[in-house]
Amino acid sequence: MLHSRPNKDQLESVYETPVFSNDPLNSTLPKYQLNEESIDPELAYLLIKDDLLDEGSARLNLATFCQTYMEPAAVRIMSETLEKNAIDKSEYPQTTDLENRCVNIIADLWNAPEDSAYIGTSTVGSSEACMLGGLAMKFAWREKAKQAGIDILGRKPNLVISSGFQVCWEKFCVYWDIEMRCVPLDPDHMSLNMDTVMDYVDNDTIGIVAIMGITYTGKYDDVKKLDELVEVYNQTAVIPVSIHVDGASGGLFAPFIFPDLEWDFRLKNVISINTSGHKYGLVYPGIGWIVWKDKCYLPSELIFSVSYLGGDLPTMAINFSRSSSQIIGQYFNFLSYGYRGYQKIHERTRSVAKYIAAELEQTQLFDIYNDGDNIPIVCWKLKANLDKPWSLYDLADRLRTTGWQVPAYPLPDNLSDLIIQRVVVRQDLSLQLAISFINDIKASIDALDHAHIIIYGHSDENKGAMGFTH
Ligand SMILES: *Cc1c(COP(=O)(O)O)cnc(C)c1O
Repeated sequence: MLHSRPNKDQLESVYETPVFSNDPLNSTLPKYQLNEESIDPELAYLLIKDDLLDEGSARLNLATFCQTYMEPAAVRIMSETLEKNAIDKSEYPQTTDLENRCVNIIADLWNAPEDSAYIGTSTVGSSEACMLGGLAMKFAWREKAKQAGIDILGRKPNLVISSGFQVCWEKFCVYWDIEMRCVPLDPDHMSLNMDTVMDYVDNDTIGIVAIMGITYTGKYDDVKKLDELVEVYNQTAVIPVSIHVDGASGGLFAPFIFPDLEWDFRLKNVISINTSGHKYGLVYPGIGWIVWKDKCYLPSELIFSVSYLGGDLPTMAINFSRSSSQIIGQYFNFLSYGYRGYQKIHERTRSVAKYIAAELEQTQLFDIYNDGDNIPIVCWKLKANLDKPWSLYDLADRLRTTGWQVPAYPLPDNLSDLIIQRVVVRQDLSLQLAISFINDIKASIDALDHAHIIIYGHSDENKGAMGFTH
């Protein structure tokens, strides 16, 4: 949401917030201007708590991949470290060491070769990490072009990715003036199409992004196959290409559930990987990570040295100051859960996703696109020819009345007439909660079936329309 100056007509109603009767709050406080005098911190706390009261329950929000639960001890250590500035590595050398441990743990989970000089950093999230991964590829492309004797002046570099990309890649391409070459998702794969992907690659390609956990459908791209295709291409290429894996959601899931699946640094042409610590890394937002398989893949222009904080500190992240809490939260989880803990949590999450998929399948109303395999999300569409007077948008609306947020949305590009609905299962969606979700979804379907429908929600213009009246 964009924030702007409130409209004059609204001033009366929105500028003032009513407060309880205790003095001095039997008056009103301005909402969009600074109040003249201070108020008691506890009162400020109450007022803000009240403001946030009807926001909806984070744990019933099945739209988001972001963590909505952490252990109380994790929250404690995180709130006790809020003041530490992650960038200030000379003031907080121990915190820096914890970040370094995390980079090492993650590089290990991603099977960085024993003898490789891998390098990585924490970021605010995958978006920042993807920017860095993309930039490193852009700089490397420039260098490779120079070596191949190609004049890059006036050429526009491109990035190849499936149309199931997350918006951060669109931002990356817009910010840095790169052509985004999208390989359309096809209904059979719902992931990067291996039959056509290499048709999109040429001498201006800075790299190919493979996605481990497509946001829309939960599918993994077949990175191993892609690596083989790239290997063949590179045999004769003027400018060889490499692969960056966007493992925002799968990067900290697959190593525990599919340890034998080769998608990571085991593959020759995978040079960098990002993940969101706040997705299946199980940390509250925002924390992300990027690791390059070897420091040779991170052009030196992207490493900056800062001396004014004391010492000579290399930094490669885009953001500068931020709290260390999230890094410490990540380290807490690694330390506290260990490999087996992550594995158990993810297995449980996966079994809840499987349960939800199986229950939805049984209604015989839906075609299931992802049944909790790959990453633990379930996504489905209404079966064709059901002739129901309601759409998935109506079902999403109806579910909102029981607190659940389950978005319905169209797929990208050439599949945009396909409307799907998606549930992201996280560690805090217990089987018990999932059972009540299924009961609620069945009750919602029943209500819609018996509702007097005044607006048909099938067409795009009607999306979001309230389709039932009772
Ligand atoms: C969530 C996601 C991102 C963006 O990650 P943030 O951590 O929210 O910045 C990028 N790519 C994919 C595939 C994602 O699922």
